[in-house]
Amino acid sequence: MKVGILGGGQLGRMMLQASANYVVETYVLESSHDCPAAHLCHHFIQGDIRNYDDVYAFGKKLDAITIEIEAVNVDALAQLEKEGVKVYPTPAAIRLIKNKIVQKDFYRSHEIPTPDYLVTNSQAELALHVDFLPAVHKLGEGGYDGKGVQILNEASDISTGFDEPSVLEKKVALKKEIAVIVAMNSRGETAIFPPAEMVADPILNLLDYQLSPAILPEKVLWKAEAIALKVLKNLKSPGLFAVELFIDNNDNVFVNETAPRVHNSGHHTIEANFCSQYDMLWRILLDFPLGNTDAILPSAIVNLVGAEGYSGKVLYENLSAVMQMPNVFVHLYGKNHTKPGRKMGHVTIMSNDYQDLTHKANKIKHLLKVISSD
Ligand code: ADP
Repeated sequence: MKVGILGGGQLGRMMLQASANYVVETYVLESSHDCPAAHLCHHFIQGDIRNYDDVYAFGKKLDAITIEIEAVNVDALAQLEKEGVKVYPTPAAIRLIKNKIVQKDFYRSHEIPTPDYLVTNSQAELALHVDFLPAVHKLGEGGYDGKGVQILNEASDISTGFDEPSVLEKKVALKKEIAVIVAMNSRGETAIFPPAEMVADPILNLLDYQLSPAILPEKVLWKAEAIALKVLKNLKSPGLFAVELFIDNNDNVFVNETAPRVHNSGHHTIEANFCSQYDMLWRILLDFPLGNTDAILPSAIVNLVGAEGYSGKVLYENLSAVMQMPNVFVHLYGKNHTKPGRKMGHVTIMSNDYQDLTHKANKIKHLLKVISSD
């Protein structure tokens, strides 16, 4: 079976690593030969995942196609689907998720809890909604990795809002942010992974590390699972989805957003769950039974990002010391060059004891630095 992945970044790379268990011929479409996934696939095709002709030409010789990022040409995928190529997630689901306005309308129309919002088309229109603040302004299309999101606390912040179609969403008093990965096969059978919890750095307010399974009261867990499954059922698409959820101070659970693909919040599932998120997506693409999502042990993920002040050929400080730690698994994404904030790898830590996880996560964060030799 010939299966293509649109995008050759670190998520594509990890998908390809998991594909080694199956008889499958893998194809990747990406703009640069240097991308993390290029040397792990059977066929690398250079091209633009946003371009109709490139995606169509790439997909028409394949049996199935999936994505590692939603910034793809959906019209080409819709045409390929019409011609009989299996496209998971469906082009309709990708189209819905790609635009945050359409995505929010989807939650509202299906009565899926999400923070209250309104749509603004320009800064002038935004200025009419000062009463709605404090709120979070989110670009309808094109925002990624925090770009395209502005927190507007008061009237004087309006000038930092977007002058394009955007969602203005009520700011939630966050107790916790969690992510629930859910999957569905072509027969409508579903699987749900234990939630992961993002632990933010209270000083820098950056994502510090992640713990899984999240520590949640049972009722909150049930709500989160029910909401994630409701998103999946209403998307009506085979594939694997990460549902990002907010928990507020009153234990209300809201959907923030959904990613129609394998997700950073599921990296730990490679070692820490019986079936990884990557393996699960292969099972769905290749029509095998769904896997067991249970955690083998609790785990933490520390992301390795390029340190401030270093750009150039990458060097990992204290890599050996970290690799010697028991139940610690280092994943490097094979990028030759670092720059501040660039995602270069991650470390998964496994332990029976959450205190031990937190301790090791902090230790690794301080020890393992992504610098450069230039
Ligand atoms: P992106 O798609 O760029 O990751 P998100 O919509 O997930 O953007 O927002 C990024 C972060 O901003 C979230 O993880 C959360 O911490 C904060 N945030 C987003 N929306 C809200 C909200 N309505 N209330 C409070 N915080 C929010």
